[in-house]
Amino acid sequence: MSISVATPSSIGTSTTRKQGRAPPIAAINAPNDVKVGRRSRVGMPAEERGPHRIVVLGAGYGGLTCALRLGRRLGSAVRAGELEIVLVDRNPYHLLETRLHEAAVRGVEVTIPIAKLLQRRPVRFIRADVTGLDIERRSVRTESGPIPYDALVIALGSKSASYGIPGLREHAFELKTLDDARGLKAHLEARFAEATGEPDPERRRRLRRVVIGGAGLTGVELATELTERIRDLTGVPLGAPDGGEVVLLEAANRILLAHDHATARSAHRVLRRAGIRIVTDVRLLEVRKNAVALSSDEVLPVGTVVWTGGVRVPEIFQEAGFRTGEKGRVVVGETLQVEGAPNVYAIGDAALARDPNSGEPIPMAAQFALQQGRVVADNLVARRAGDRPIPYRPRILGEVISLGKHLATGWLALGWIGRLRLTGFLASLLKRAIAERHLALLWRESRRWARPG
Ligand SMILES: Cc1cc2nc3c(=O)[nH]c(=O)nc-3n(C[C@H](O)[C@H](O)[C@H](O)COP(=O)(O)OP(=O)(O)OC[C@H]3O[C@@H](n4cnc5c(N)ncnc54)[C@H](O)[C@@H]3O)c2cc1C
Repeated sequence: MSISVATPSSIGTSTTRKQGRAPPIAAINAPNDVKVGRRSRVGMPAEERGPHRIVVLGAGYGGLTCALRLGRRLGSAVRAGELEIVLVDRNPYHLLETRLHEAAVRGVEVTIPIAKLLQRRPVRFIRADVTGLDIERRSVRTESGPIPYDALVIALGSKSASYGIPGLREHAFELKTLDDARGLKAHLEARFAEATGEPDPERRRRLRRVVIGGAGLTGVELATELTERIRDLTGVPLGAPDGGEVVLLEAANRILLAHDHATARSAHRVLRRAGIRIVTDVRLLEVRKNAVALSSDEVLPVGTVVWTGGVRVPEIFQEAGFRTGEKGRVVVGETLQVEGAPNVYAIGDAALARDPNSGEPIPMAAQFALQQGRVVADNLVARRAGDRPIPYRPRILGEVISLGKHLATGWLALGWIGRLRLTGFLASLLKRAIAERHLALLWRESRRWARPG
């Protein structure tokens, strides 16, 4: 069976995964298809194997950056028919995941169609769900057929981890995909609408109570964003009689455990002032249809539960025989190559790279995924030219946590001067500037796709 690849122009715009599942690859009939078959290309004579193929898995922060940069730097080799650059994702859009909480609460647009981003770049896109890797045969398994590669970049990000908490999958929302955000928004609005017509005050209170499990970055950003929205929906501040309630649960003894104490303290103050109930040292034991059971022996009636308590990397990499570490991340060396598989690279949330100075794992954050995407693209270019690869050295630009539409807290690295700490409106402008910078870089790398508005 031969499978074909969609050219950017044949890819749909931002549909959700449930709404528009990826068509079988064979069913996409683009004129300049990449023909790939079930037969492995490893061991074939060079003339039969066709051009060298670099396959990038995942069109998120790391993967898209890598593919666009490869397209820019190796465009002439692609045009000469010596090379193919293929980008694979289950969705036809690039998701601005760092703004997902805004989509879940305010319905902000957080996708950019991949077709638009690739229209001026020699990168082919395959919309497919990756289900496994066959390292020996140098082939990616997808729901729609295999995709052989010569060099592979893994940038599939992470997914929500439920830690086996009973009822979580059935009764709680997650916040990792566009579907999650849309589902949560619809549910919240339905619950608050239902509460308006509810005569029983206890039931009304339950419908307006939102419990967020996990006070890391996602939980904190979602809680503050929700506060403003709930105030709009009820017309009164959080915690007021007949107002809504947001409970932020954390198993550790403080919020934002992955961030420094000063940032966590200032976020804590803002959250308390906004009326959010912060409960630390308490674990979520079970999620039921309309209640949560906590390790403090409390059973809290709820209208909405959101789980932001942890992420992990899909199991397919362990199954492929890669060494994995904390949260299932694939262990990589300093050039971001996967141990024991020099033609395979891993970046972003999926990769366990270490800071060479501290030895600490590189955090799961967009800024590092972007940096690693650029480094791997440059290393693939170097490899083609027979040059030495460059090691990855993380650059920490700062950390800014949004606390609603017009507030944020965090710091900016100012080289040898140290950290500039900011809390308030100015910090929220900085946060917006970081998001805009990503769009500007994409715009440049994609040769100026037509930006909306
Ligand atoms: C609400 C929220 C707020 C955040 N805020 C910040 C922030 O302010 N700053 C920050 O630095 N980080 C933030 N993060 C974390 C940041 O979004 C991630 O660290 C970053 O997205 C990781 O980039 P990545 O390239 O590794 O993966 P991703 O950007 O997640 O991309 C992975 C891609 O792979 C695709 N994919 C996954 N599995 C498959 C499969 N089986 N088949 C095909 N395609 C697949 C996905 O569709 C996706 O396009 C936030 C995360 C969330 C959820």
